[in-house]
Amino acid sequence: MECPLPLNKIPIVERLNNLRINVFGYEENEVFPLYASKRVDEECFNLLLIANEETQHYCLIRNMSRLLGDLTKHKTKHHYCYRCLHRFAKVEILKEHLQYCSEHSPQHIKMPEKGEKFYQISERALSTSSSLYHLCGF
Ligand SMILES: [Zn+2]
Repeated sequence: MECPLPLNKIPIVERLNNLRINVFGYEENEVFPLYASKRVDEECFNLLLIANEETQHYCLIRNMSRLLGDLTKHKTKHHYCYRCLHRFAKVEILKEHLQYCSEHSPQHIKMPEKGEKFYQISERALSTSSSLYHLCGF
């Protein structure tokens, strides 16, 4: 096997070892999912892929709350959706969320800063349905 293991080989490792592995990336002080396991009942390992232009390596994430900076006054355990990194106080709400979120690939959600625009749609693009289709294609 290649070292470090490419993301597309992780399902093989999961299957051979009966593990559930999630991989996250880190850029510009932000953590985002790179690979979210589709397995549900096996022991879960969360890994952070640290990369620069020359090397890559995985680090085990022991405490997701610490990594994501959740330093709230509430000391209760949080439950994370590893596909979108939304946080839930109750596991029942997370399970309900997973019914919808698991239909999509892992997402890197970035909200615009105040006054920042991500994308402008011209009136011309809106005038033709094929242009709009290309804009919205996931
Ligand atoms: Zn989610």
